[in-house]
Amino acid sequence: MPDRVILDDERIVECSTLTDLLSEVFFIGTADCLSGSLPEAVMRSTIDQETQTTPRHNGHHREAQTPGPSTRVLHQGIQRPQAFHSLTPPIVQTAAYTFENTEAVVRFKSAPAKTRLEYGRYGNPTVQGVEQRLAALEEGEAALLVSSGMAAITLPLLLLLSQGDHLIIGDDTYHRTRVFANDFLTRYGVSVTTVPTTDLSAIEAAIRPNTRVIVAETPTNPFLRCVDLQGLARLARTHGILTLIDSTFATPLNQQPLLHGIDLVAHSVTKYLAGHNDLLAGVIVGDSDLIEALRDIQGLFGAVVDPSAAYQIHRGLQTLGLRISQQNRSALAIARFLETHPKVRRVWYPGLPSHPDHPVARKQMRGFGGVVSFEIAGDGPAASRFVDALQLAHIAPSLGGVDTLVMQPAIMSYFDTPREERLALGITDELIRLSVGIEDTEDLLDDIEQALEVV
Ligand code: PLP
Repeated sequence: MPDRVILDDERIVECSTLTDLLSEVFFIGTADCLSGSLPEAVMRSTIDQETQTTPRHNGHHREAQTPGPSTRVLHQGIQRPQAFHSLTPPIVQTAAYTFENTEAVVRFKSAPAKTRLEYGRYGNPTVQGVEQRLAALEEGEAALLVSSGMAAITLPLLLLLSQGDHLIIGDDTYHRTRVFANDFLTRYGVSVTTVPTTDLSAIEAAIRPNTRVIVAETPTNPFLRCVDLQGLARLARTHGILTLIDSTFATPLNQQPLLHGIDLVAHSVTKYLAGHNDLLAGVIVGDSDLIEALRDIQGLFGAVVDPSAAYQIHRGLQTLGLRISQQNRSALAIARFLETHPKVRRVWYPGLPSHPDHPVARKQMRGFGGVVSFEIAGDGPAASRFVDALQLAHIAPSLGGVDTLVMQPAIMSYFDTPREERLALGITDELIRLSVGIEDTEDLLDDIEQALEVV
């Protein structure tokens, strides 16, 4: 461990341990420390020495391998130790970063690459820490945390598409994503073709010489349709088209689109990743050059996340593995139960062999997620009676958090869509979407069983 470290702008820090060094640097300017202006080699070699362990499993040496996602989210890309020896990362609640003097401003502005932070819309250390965790979870090069899931969809499309370009979009993607493509992008001279999400031959048939991007979701909302990620990536690459996958319903615990060759993966962090129904955010993960280009337009559009919200995301991420295991387990049990119940007409859950995309889901997912959609054997009012009889589930238009949520899409997200139009999309009056929380599985099953009795 060196006892003198010279920072980029020639300030010298005296210290004997990495912890002291980080605390010193934190006093000088957290941005310097966390945005990587410390000499990289010093940081890396010191961290390696301080965290080196001999992995063992059942008393045997394990070959070096990628840690599991629950371990990655806690350990990868994380500054160790944090400033002031804090166990948790600091919330750097600032809108702007200060400069020592005018010369420092000029040096910063003239540097070929940014070595520190300047203004909150262009970066924040607390946000950057969460981005590193999310990139590690998806095993992508970089991540950009944005203000909502919608920003995670709209910013890449605004970056990648120009007037005269063509976009292909899956028909079962999030309602607002389709509204953005069809009602907004078309105003700027982008043409849009909607295709059945899971039909690769329909996607191929829709490709034109000016197709730039294919955007799809898997599993979809609310029918949990699954796109063959490898097949889609191969097809798109053959034609030089970029792929953007909204993987919100899966989470990186259940599915990693980048590992199948997809270019960009987006999540509504609002849902599983933050996990507590108490904030809105989104993330895009992919190669560094694309993410840096996105960061630039994020600075233009201003779709940033507040540092306090970033800290809450960090906190939520720490229990992601536990939450997702429980939600996967309960949702599968509930889907199986509903499928055998006489008052249920049909169930959509990718973990059920009856789901049309079960083979694809098995191929590319580790778990099938926490959302189950089903039709009550009855009409809309019968479905409403079921919903109102539930004791544990809250009626709310979201998903993925610790609380079980329920809703009828026909009178929630599709309330303003003409009936014929939504029926054509399969959104019947009696369709119900259940987002399974982390309550005990048996309690959820009991609650659903008693509510079905009133149908
Ligand atoms: N993508 C999917 C699959 C969603 O379900 C949602 C919201 O429900 C979004 C994106 C938008 O996310 P947000 O509400 O965080 O903007």
